[in-house]
Amino acid sequence: MADIIRLLPDHVANQIAAGEVVQRPSSVVKELLENAIDAGATEIQLIVKDGGKTLIQIVDNGKGMSGTDARLSFERHATSKIQKAEDLFNLHTKGFRGEALASIAAIAHVEMLTRTEEDEIGTRIKMEGSKVVAQEVVVAPKGTSMLVKNLFFNIPARRNFLKSDQVEFRHITDEFHRISLAHPQVAFNFYNNGSDVFQLPANDFRKRIVQIFGRKTDEKLVPVEEETHVVKISGYIQKPEFAKKSRGEQFFFANNRFIKSPYLHHAILGAFEGLIRPGTHPGYFLNLEVDPGTIDINIHPTKTEVKFDDEHTLYAMLKSTVKHSLGQFNVTPALDFEQDQNLDTPYSYKNKEVGIPQVVVDSSFNPFEAVKTSRGNSTSNYSKPKVEGWENLYLGMDMSIDGDNHSNLEFESEVVNSSIFDEGQEVVDHTTTTFQLRKKYIITTIKSGMVVINQSRAHQRVLYEKFLKNITIKEAVSQQLLFPLTLSFSPSEISILNEIKENLCTVGFVFGEVAEDGVEIKGVPVLVVESEVQMIMEQLISDFQQEVPGDSFSQSDMLAKTLAKTLSVKTGETLDEFSQVKLVNDLFACKETTLSPFNKKVYMTITENDIERKFI
Ligand code: ADP
Ligand code: MG
Repeated sequence: MADIIRLLPDHVANQIAAGEVVQRPSSVVKELLENAIDAGATEIQLIVKDGGKTLIQIVDNGKGMSGTDARLSFERHATSKIQKAEDLFNLHTKGFRGEALASIAAIAHVEMLTRTEEDEIGTRIKMEGSKVVAQEVVVAPKGTSMLVKNLFFNIPARRNFLKSDQVEFRHITDEFHRISLAHPQVAFNFYNNGSDVFQLPANDFRKRIVQIFGRKTDEKLVPVEEETHVVKISGYIQKPEFAKKSRGEQFFFANNRFIKSPYLHHAILGAFEGLIRPGTHPGYFLNLEVDPGTIDINIHPTKTEVKFDDEHTLYAMLKSTVKHSLGQFNVTPALDFEQDQNLDTPYSYKNKEVGIPQVVVDSSFNPFEAVKTSRGNSTSNYSKPKVEGWENLYLGMDMSIDGDNHSNLEFESEVVNSSIFDEGQEVVDHTTTTFQLRKKYIITTIKSGMVVINQSRAHQRVLYEKFLKNITIKEAVSQQLLFPLTLSFSPSEISILNEIKENLCTVGFVFGEVAEDGVEIKGVPVLVVESEVQMIMEQLISDFQQEVPGDSFSQSDMLAKTLAKTLSVKTGETLDEFSQVKLVNDLFACKETTLSPFNKKVYMTITENDIERKFI
């Protein structure tokens, strides 16, 4: 048999290897920014067009390259940063593999212009798909400019795999945040499609954080400082009350390199335990300085995962240092340690006074008895405020839903189906019995038996359809705020808000001025309580950050889902009888009744047969 193994041609091997290093435009940005930092630049410019797909340019004032080095830098495994294996254990640079430029040149059009301090004249090299197409001697400023055009021009499959310009731009911005935070002493300018994104003069760490995340961030920061023989920890955590729905502002840097470490992240969560609302995330910007010999950054090609020699010690130190800072800066006493986490109190009720529950048990009450009962006294005081809240539910409701658009469930009483949508009439129909089980389910009777409804999911479904309808027909009822609310956000959060603003208006939000680091809100949908606006906005931004909707339909859909999720009654909330019946009726007036907007089962039925079988 003839020999069949061949060496791949260079350009093919290069393209394959490039895939490891360059996944998307932001990978190019990361590699080139790191090269500029390694070259000792004090000023770096980043210019991108169309999410980096058409153009990425990075200009630095670093040490530049000689003509020979410039040519060599595009060869695979060509690096000036390490010479022997041992150097890997004493690494002070970002790069060391000598792969980035070779990889980028394999899959894009690259133009490099560079000059060293000593040379009077510089070098220009043009590369296309790993081939040198031009090299000449030119006049150039000191430093290096790298121009990368038409990424993946020769790998259409990879190019098609890229997301929208907006999404790719967001990845680039994330990378820019990480590197510019790790190097506050370097000045950065960032332009996108011809306009300024960030102008960051050289600064200290705190000011750099504020430059990136907005003026309001300053007051949120608490310094963290600790030095031992194992590690030097420095940086800032955000006060617990500013914990956010999104995970955006969480940064670890190890020896000035952004790293991801779920393990160390857990240490921080431990320190914040009991101080933040469930479902929110603390912000932190922490630098860990360790001996380069005790850290292995070689385990992943894109190098955000690292391995520390002594992770357990690091974990313990980090946790106690952060705890100490929280205590030292008097952050903790403002919070209520007494609060029972299991209570799951809705946030808006956190500061309201709770009366002593006066439970009056109606001993004659029988849930299966289909008679008119008014159990007004049997709900505890705790539920009283909720009754008012629930009436609000109907203020903006469309009362003209078709009476016959119900699911195939047949109610025991005809009246229930027909009366509720007559405006102004008594809505509760006492011929249907409902009751609440474990503050989680509503149980109601139907002809064939009974239905057990998950209250939270049912309400999500009702709200979801309502909001979706508002968005589609662009008709929503909003309430003007007496005093407009000013909410502060970081510039990248503002850019997300701008993307969804139009849809937010269709559900009833009214915006005033939108500034660089904040937004004014003049009106909110009727269902929204003023004190919850910040939380809702954060949730929206966080949802959109995590999953970018591709078209305007999915944007509306996501918006309706988020609002439904945030505004729905939750497990643990007591509902009075009026609200229970109303919720049941609203649910069965929905287009879809069986599933919540998040595809969870809303109710189950138990037939008389089912019950009888249990008694055999
Ligand atoms: P690595 O950074 O891992 O060494 P790269 O492929 O990114 O590999 O770069 C190869 C070499 O090119 C570097 O080792 C460095 O000597 C040189 N180089 C790359 N970018 C720059 C720059 N902006 N300024 C000066 N030298 C650079
Ligand atoms: Mg490099």
